[in-house]
Amino acid sequence: MPELPEVETIVRELIATGLVGKQIATAYVQWPKIIDTSDDQVFIHQIQGQSINNLARRGKYLVFTLSQSTLFVHLRMSGKFEWLANPLPIKKHEHVRLVFTDGTILRYEDPRKFGRWSLYSDPLEKLSRLGLEPLSSNFTCSALTSMLQRYASQIKPFLLNQKHIVGLGNIYVDEALWEAKINPQQLTNSLTKKEIKALHQAIQNVLNKGIENKGTSLGVGASNYYSVSGRRGGHQHHLKVFRQQGLACSRCSTLIIKIVVAQRGTHLCPTCQKSVIFNEIKPL
Ligand SMILES: [Zn+2]
Repeated sequence: MPELPEVETIVRELIATGLVGKQIATAYVQWPKIIDTSDDQVFIHQIQGQSINNLARRGKYLVFTLSQSTLFVHLRMSGKFEWLANPLPIKKHEHVRLVFTDGTILRYEDPRKFGRWSLYSDPLEKLSRLGLEPLSSNFTCSALTSMLQRYASQIKPFLLNQKHIVGLGNIYVDEALWEAKINPQQLTNSLTKKEIKALHQAIQNVLNKGIENKGTSLGVGASNYYSVSGRRGGHQHHLKVFRQQGLACSRCSTLIIKIVVAQRGTHLCPTCQKSVIFNEIKPL
C-alpha cells in the first residue's frame, strides 16, 4: 500500500508533467464504486470544465485543488496514475480517466479496486479528520509527547491511526520503531522522554529516506507500487526490518523476527527493541 513517501513521489512526478493549470474537458469512470462522494454521472458532471489550480499531498491523499471543488484521491492497495500525451485505448484496470482540453490524459489504474476518489466543495470536511503531517513544522516533539500521553494503546496501532499522525503505514512504522529502538507493543503513555525524542526523529528520518529513494516497491506484480513514470521505488533495498525476518539486524546481528501486533504483521529486532512485555511475544 502506498504510504507517505510513495504518494509524495507520485505528486512530485505529476506536477513535473505540467498537470497544474490544465482544464478538465471530460472524465470517464469505468468502475463507479471508486467515486465515493456521489454516483459516477454526478461526479463527471461536477468535474468537467474545472481547472487544476494546485496539487499537493496530505497524508496518503493526493489533493487536487480545482477551480470550484477539491478532489481527494486515496490509492489504498494498488491505485496508480499514468500520464498520456496522446489518447490510447482504455486498459483493463483503468477505472477513471481525466481528459484535458489540450488532449493529454490522466489515467488511473487500480487492479484491486480499493482506491477512492472523493470530490468536496469544502475541503475542510476531509482535512479536519486528518492528524498531524509528520514532515511539517507542526510535528514537534512536544506535540508528539502530548498525543502519546493522552492514549494508553500500543505504539504501533497508535502510529498507524491517521487521526493522530498521517502518512505512516505498516512499512514505515516498523522501520521507525526499529530506528528508535522501541518495541511495537509498548504502551504509548509508558514511553520515556528519550524514547519519544528518538521516535520523533526516526519517523522523519525514515520518511525522508523513503522519499529520497522514491518509495518502496515490494514486488514486481501489477498490484505493487509504481510511480507515474512506471518506475519502481528503490527504498526496498534499504529496509532494516520490514520483511527482513530471519536476516541479521544491521545494528546487533540478532535475527529479525515477525510477530502480529494489532492484527498487523510486524517486524522487529528482539535485542534492539526489547520491552518489559517482550517475554510474552512468540515469533511466528
Ligand atoms: Zn538489533
